[in-house]
Amino acid sequence: LERSDKKAYEEAQKRLKMAEEDRKAMVPELRKKSRREYLAKREREKLEDLEAELADEEVLFGDVELSRHERRELKYKRRVRDLAREYRAAGEQEKLEATNRYHMPKETRGQPARAVDIVEEESGAPGEEQRRWEEAQLGAASLKFGARDAAAQEAKYQLVLEEDETIEFVRAAQLQGDEEPSGPPLSAQAQQKESIQAVRRSLPVFPFREELLTAIANHQVLIIEGETGSGKTTQIPQYLFEEGYTKKGMKIACTQPRRVAAMSVAARVAREMGVKLGNEVGYSIRFEDCTSERTVLRYMTDGMLLREFLSEPDLASYSVVMVDEAHERTLHTDILFGLIKDVARFRPELKVLVASATLDTARFSAFFDDAPVFRIPGRRFPVDIFYTKAPEADYLEACVVSVLQIHVTQPPGDILVFLTGQEEIEAACEMLQDRCRRLGSKIRELLVLPIYANLPSDMQARIFQPTPPGARKVVVATNIAETSLTIEGIIYVLDPGFCKQKSYNPRTGMESLTVTPCSKASANQRAGRAGRVAAGKCFRLYTAWAYQHELEETTVPEIQRTSLGNVVLLLKSLGIHDLMHFDFLDPPPYETLLLALEQLYALGALNHLGELTTSGRKMAELPVDPMLSKMILASEKYSCSEEILTVAAMLSVNNSIFYRPKDKVVHADNARVNFFLPGGDHLVLLNVYTQWAESGYSSQWCYENFVQFRSMRRARDVREQLEGLLERVEVGLTSCQGDYVRVRKAITSGYFYHTARLTRSGYRTVKQQQTVFIHPNSSLFEQQPRWLLYHELVLTTKEFMRQVLEIESSWLLEVAPHYYKAKE
Ligand code: ADP
Ligand code: MG
Repeated sequence: LERSDKKAYEEAQKRLKMAEEDRKAMVPELRKKSRREYLAKREREKLEDLEAELADEEVLFGDVELSRHERRELKYKRRVRDLAREYRAAGEQEKLEATNRYHMPKETRGQPARAVDIVEEESGAPGEEQRRWEEAQLGAASLKFGARDAAAQEAKYQLVLEEDETIEFVRAAQLQGDEEPSGPPLSAQAQQKESIQAVRRSLPVFPFREELLTAIANHQVLIIEGETGSGKTTQIPQYLFEEGYTKKGMKIACTQPRRVAAMSVAARVAREMGVKLGNEVGYSIRFEDCTSERTVLRYMTDGMLLREFLSEPDLASYSVVMVDEAHERTLHTDILFGLIKDVARFRPELKVLVASATLDTARFSAFFDDAPVFRIPGRRFPVDIFYTKAPEADYLEACVVSVLQIHVTQPPGDILVFLTGQEEIEAACEMLQDRCRRLGSKIRELLVLPIYANLPSDMQARIFQPTPPGARKVVVATNIAETSLTIEGIIYVLDPGFCKQKSYNPRTGMESLTVTPCSKASANQRAGRAGRVAAGKCFRLYTAWAYQHELEETTVPEIQRTSLGNVVLLLKSLGIHDLMHFDFLDPPPYETLLLALEQLYALGALNHLGELTTSGRKMAELPVDPMLSKMILASEKYSCSEEILTVAAMLSVNNSIFYRPKDKVVHADNARVNFFLPGGDHLVLLNVYTQWAESGYSSQWCYENFVQFRSMRRARDVREQLEGLLERVEVGLTSCQGDYVRVRKAITSGYFYHTARLTRSGYRTVKQQQTVFIHPNSSLFEQQPRWLLYHELVLTTKEFMRQVLEIESSWLLEVAPHYYKAKE
């Protein structure tokens, strides 16, 4: 070797050595396959370094003969690099899909207390304030999981779970209970054996039956406050029925903020009364009416009762209206308050009940002219609250790990996990089942049961079935299980601290659904679910510091963070013109109201005086968003109502049309692409539905094409309902005969507000100039047309437009000349 080469060679050797050390540090990490660990470690920088180094070496050693050992070195490093690339690609894909995460100060896990002292001196380290606060709160003690019997349990679970697969929790607080934590809980089986009537008598509300009925008789408006599970929803309407409030054809309405709750509670009450669901007891939710002439107890969503005002402005056929889950403060519940208060004034015989978990009752009372509050004493066992020692980077992964941890280390009792939505719940259930399968007989049986709004009702019913002996049940739920549903046997609650929340920017008119931290009130409701049958434990996947400093006290009422187009249209058609002075419990922001008026004006629903137009009246008849109603009305002009109805129906079951089983991703993606039609996603939806209809609505067809049968079935229901309403809004049934431009124009007539345009720096919304992106699932993702409209914006990692359609700018002038002007 030449001298200079020799020197270079030595240099390279040194670097190789360093690279080797890097590799040593890196490889075990890569092997662990743990995304949480890996992504957290700035893999990008490392990979780039490694790449640069390899490139250097390749130049250096271009024509130097390497020893076998060195060659192997180099080969190994290349493998590490390729592996790292693969992981990064996988990570990025997932990041794209991942929801917007909640960032909390970073902190190293499991740092010993001594180290903390030292760090404290060098102030300013991230997470240091948090650490200090937590130290103060917790004292030096940091109990590992379950405290007392921890040591014994520890040894056992170490055998099953690897150490890096566990999460350390600290106990920090206790939710007080009214009951002593003694005595074994009544097992689910034992409860099942008791007759249904005995169960009814055992509910906390039962001893107060007479008192409650007297209070209702004596007062027109009564606020009822009681812990979740005390029997408000299922019992009170029955008491009223037994007391004769449904004589002479009168009905009792009980509203629920959620569809699932309305369905499930009605089913339960029908069973308790021994009647068929849909006869004396029924439910009514949007696009699904399970009631008949005979139905006197009507469970319904708050939105449905709101629509009842359209046909019966004084609710004349109702003797009692119970606004349940009032503390949820949904938009519809809030509007109901104002309307019902008004009706109650001129219908003195109407009874109004406002039922709520133990929150906010004073406010409701004040709103209803100081109506009396009836408190049903709670029955709750204490709940120990545990926090993680450090923030978790990936709460889904952390959830799965914690469930297994609880399963392996904790005494019997079912687990309730709170996640934010269907996708997340399905992912978590899949991960859990997968791991249980791998652990096999090393662990006891774990029944994994999901519950969310779109779950078919037979699946929903499974969460209420008693857990078989020896097994443990884990229910993975949305907020639905926070207060609306009570599942017996829950002892452990796992709370990642997030919920899906709508937010609205009245300046831009953008509505988005994001995963946000839940409120303290929510967190405490969730924890309370653990203390129903015995003393329980709640594991929060965030730190005590985060609870104290980063969670809001209560959730902002929906009316203050949503668009009001729908509600304003409804109120206008009820003859309520002066919206600024409507009796709101909490008024919406002034700008939001104005924008709603402006949008309705643009859609032609209101005239320049703010009065309802004929077209506006028709739009209010359809139980869908104003933009969607406008689209349906416009299909008359473009003679394509058949197609538009299908598009409308498919849009309302949005996002759950295709499925993608893990083992057949490629097949599923191919199947999806086969449905693509030029023009965009709305036409793809139309195409799927049409082909399905041609197959005779076959489930086999769905299976072969990776389409979700139950979503399609629901779309068919919705379509039928909408078709039934067409006559009311004077739209005839016509087909475009394959002329899709007409369909696209009709869609544009409704959605000209939601348009985006390709600029040099990507897509921008036309009106607000906001940067937006086509969702990677869209059929137009790779085409990037110049003009498009979108059905909705979803904020995950970016503002994504979901369901996009290519349009021509000239159409905007055609469908909304008052809104768009041609550039001179
Ligand atoms: P609240 O409205 O006060 O929260 P509910 O009336 O919903 O209480 O529930 C009372 C009790 O009825 C619950 O504790 C539970 O035991 C039982 N229950 C309610 N729904 C069901 C169901 N679908 N299946 C079995 N039991 C149920
Ligand atoms: Mg209830």
